[in-house]
Amino acid sequence: MQKQIQLRVKPEEAANASSLILILAQATGQAPESISGYHILKQSIDARSRQQIWINLTVLVFINESPSSRFNDEINFPALPSNAKEVIIIGAGPAGLFAALECIEQGLRPIVLERGKDVRSRRRDLAKLNKEGIVNPESNYCFGEGGAGTYSDGKLYTRSNKRGSIDKILRLFYQFGADERILYEAHPHIGTNKLPHIITAMRAQIEKSGGKVLFEKKLTDLIIEKGVAKEVITSDGDRFQTNAIILATGHSARDIFSLLNDKGILIEAKPFALGVRVEHPQSIVDGIQYHCAVRGPNLPPASYSLVEQVNDRGVFSFCMCPGGIIAPGATAPGEIVVNGWSPSKRDNAFANSGMVVQIDLATAAEYLTKLKVNGNANLNSSLNLNNPLLLLDFQRHVEKKAFEFGGGKQIAPAARLVDFCTNKVSKELPNASYLPGLHSADLNMILPEFVRTTLQEGFKAFGKKMKGYYSNDAIVVATESRTSSPVRIPRDAESYQHPQIRNLYPCGEGAGYAGGIVSAAMDGQKLAQAIAVQLR
Ligand SMILES: Cc1cc2nc3c(=O)[nH]c(=O)nc-3n(C[C@H](O)[C@H](O)[C@H](O)COP(=O)(O)OP(=O)(O)OC[C@H]3O[C@@H](n4cnc5c(N)ncnc54)[C@H](O)[C@@H]3O)c2cc1C
Repeated sequence: MQKQIQLRVKPEEAANASSLILILAQATGQAPESISGYHILKQSIDARSRQQIWINLTVLVFINESPSSRFNDEINFPALPSNAKEVIIIGAGPAGLFAALECIEQGLRPIVLERGKDVRSRRRDLAKLNKEGIVNPESNYCFGEGGAGTYSDGKLYTRSNKRGSIDKILRLFYQFGADERILYEAHPHIGTNKLPHIITAMRAQIEKSGGKVLFEKKLTDLIIEKGVAKEVITSDGDRFQTNAIILATGHSARDIFSLLNDKGILIEAKPFALGVRVEHPQSIVDGIQYHCAVRGPNLPPASYSLVEQVNDRGVFSFCMCPGGIIAPGATAPGEIVVNGWSPSKRDNAFANSGMVVQIDLATAAEYLTKLKVNGNANLNSSLNLNNPLLLLDFQRHVEKKAFEFGGGKQIAPAARLVDFCTNKVSKELPNASYLPGLHSADLNMILPEFVRTTLQEGFKAFGKKMKGYYSNDAIVVATESRTSSPVRIPRDAESYQHPQIRNLYPCGEGAGYAGGIVSAAMDGQKLAQAIAVQLR
């Protein structure tokens, strides 16, 4: 017999299988020896009470019957027949890789062209970036096998549950090597140390089925004839003819946005968010969230999610990484971009999070216009509100300012949190996780005033919600600017069947239709399904 039950247990009970069996026996009215096994279906933490933290569980209990194998319905990827139609996929990020896997399921042969290197070679470029501050514009935290997803934090939650099957994405991550916990935890997380193996296993499957993944193949041109995309050309002069191109180049492929614009393909500015990364000692966040001096052994490092409206502008936490590291996310020399990740155990001493402000077109244009009038802005494009690259220009301008006021190479400008909020330059900075190093700086010189003041008010408000958060033991680091794409490539978002250029399917975060690993992956799957219908 099987029974599905919901329970609320103490963290130490959830962590101990023998205790849990006793609780399950009691809850189902059975003797403990009758409980032959169980599967946790859902798990979340409830830390609202100051007296006791609870773990909420949904459990499938097996009573006097052998537990079924939990996940026996693996997705089978067939070997493609020699006459399978080819789909060219530009970019091997989550959107591109999941599109490739879906193509195989649909009987199409994916040929993935990636500007960066394979996971292993990419790791060497990241070491140079972290240790020497050298940015390789083709191989960095955003570019290379697995895209921005490979050395990301690997949080797998999304609010885009209407866009596709989250469940299928999680099952595939599990099938390619992620821990089974991602299938039932409320906030699934893989961790940066685990992602590279998973991404490599995905590539192995694509190749085994008869697809290809080619590295250091950067798309530089598209041949479009009479409104139909016919061919792609890569930087080494190779040409690939095809009936379908999935363009999954991510939010940092600025050259692709320029290419599309130059070709007269409609793109538009898309509001995004920009700010700083804030880092606290993890113990401060644990103390606040778990109402304790020291976190118990059965609790994970605590996280938070904060949002506030300041003068009609949203300010919110983004990509919070408990037990994490602040990472250098620049894709070109001369700019500073920060992001965050954490290992699967989340066992670093710091908790970091983006803290960002909504950026709209009109305010960004007004800001850049003032700079230009004062002869300050080094802008590539016009300040006309119809200019689709205007928000990208704004983003780049702030990233360059961060470089200018940083400490050289990738040494990032930073301030203690209370100093930042009271317009002071910090006399010295505390220890932090950011490997290239920090430089105490006046962040007023970097952040546009409307961003700075909104952040300052936001931080003060967050300090009221979380007592102890507004602390000079925390630091803020500039700039968190690649939160999502500042450009959208408009498309028929419903059916995916009618791209503006026939055969050219913009996809994932770079197209402006995804924000994160899972939503980008779902977008890739959806497009591959739509292309399969089209090519049949
Ligand atoms: C440090 C860090 C931490 C993150 N943490 C999380 C997290 O915890 N959870 C989450 O959901 N998201 C996280 N993200 C964001 C997430 O990684 C992205 O949302 C996701 O990877 C977007 O997927 P994508 O496939 O659309 O684009 P990308 O992952 O950006 O992939 C685009 C790919 O296209 C390639 N490319 C670009 N131009 C060309 C060209 N001209 N020719 C050929 N190839 C090209 C790039 O090299 C890249 O590999 C994080 C990102 C970073 C950098």
